[in-house]
Amino acid sequence: MTGRGRVVVAGSANVDLVVDVPRPPRAGETILGGDLRRSPGGKGANQAVAAARAGGADTTFLGTLGDDEPAGLLLASLDGAGVRTDLVEHVSVPTGTAFITVSPGGENTIVVAPGANARLRLGARHGDRIAAADVVLTQLEVPLDVVRAAAAARRPGALLALNAAPSRRLPRDVWDTVDLLIVNEHEAAELAGDTAGPDTLARALRERVPAVVITLGRQGCLVAEGDRAPLHIPGVPVEAVDTTGAGDTFCGALCAALARALPLPEAARLAGAAAALAVTRPGAQAAVPTADEVAAFAA
Ligand code: ADP
Repeated sequence: MTGRGRVVVAGSANVDLVVDVPRPPRAGETILGGDLRRSPGGKGANQAVAAARAGGADTTFLGTLGDDEPAGLLLASLDGAGVRTDLVEHVSVPTGTAFITVSPGGENTIVVAPGANARLRLGARHGDRIAAADVVLTQLEVPLDVVRAAAAARRPGALLALNAAPSRRLPRDVWDTVDLLIVNEHEAAELAGDTAGPDTLARALRERVPAVVITLGRQGCLVAEGDRAPLHIPGVPVEAVDTTGAGDTFCGALCAALARALPLPEAARLAGAAAALAVTRPGAQAAVPTADEVAAFAA
């Protein structure tokens, strides 16, 4: 392991097409919005940027892009953050695209066209890189087999982290491969099939995987591992400007800190500081702070 730790993120990359609207459109209705903004996004790519920048880890992104112009925007952002993109594949379907409307009250609508993301398969060419990782981080915007293959290729002792977003029912064999589950409160409730408070949800999910982190927005997060009672790590108070990508910044920074062998509560504290700084800035990947900024903020 290098001093920085090695992280592999296998997941989605989307170009976000964002338009401000006075209110969400109703079915069958056309409304006029503001100017179109285009920015790099997708949970996998956002988390890889956060691991490399906010967490300072040696980070590889494994994903699939189209053979099109938006792919260049996504690669430039990953490369700019210092993420290794040498194993990214290009296929002849469009790069994943998210269509996002943003209303004044912050009520967003999002439609994702997965495009190239649905073609991601992990195979022999990814094996060495995954086996060299201290932490392998996955999400659910790509086929479930990506989680299975990432888990199978990791070396013994390496951590398989799953950010179960967007949430969906997980088969038993996938639950059994996960070492660390990271979810927000809504995803936790859906996965647990329960509407209880976060403490109860954390305990319920902890029955299924060795460690659980439930993020709680401005309230911070809950960390549950082993037989210990869930630990609340308070949020860092900030003036929120744009919470897009807060969860992704948290996941990437958390896994980078775990790759440096920090204990989970300490890693969650650093991840919370990184995510809090990110919400003070507009955008998703553009908002991710550097490791030095996080260290100064958390000091
Ligand atoms: P998601 O973006 O997946 O819904 P959360 O809203 O729970 O996830 O946010 C993830 C993390 O980002 C939180 O655990 C917290 O550390 C940080 N965060 C989010 N919103 C705020 C906020 N308004 N102030 C401070 N930190 C925040």
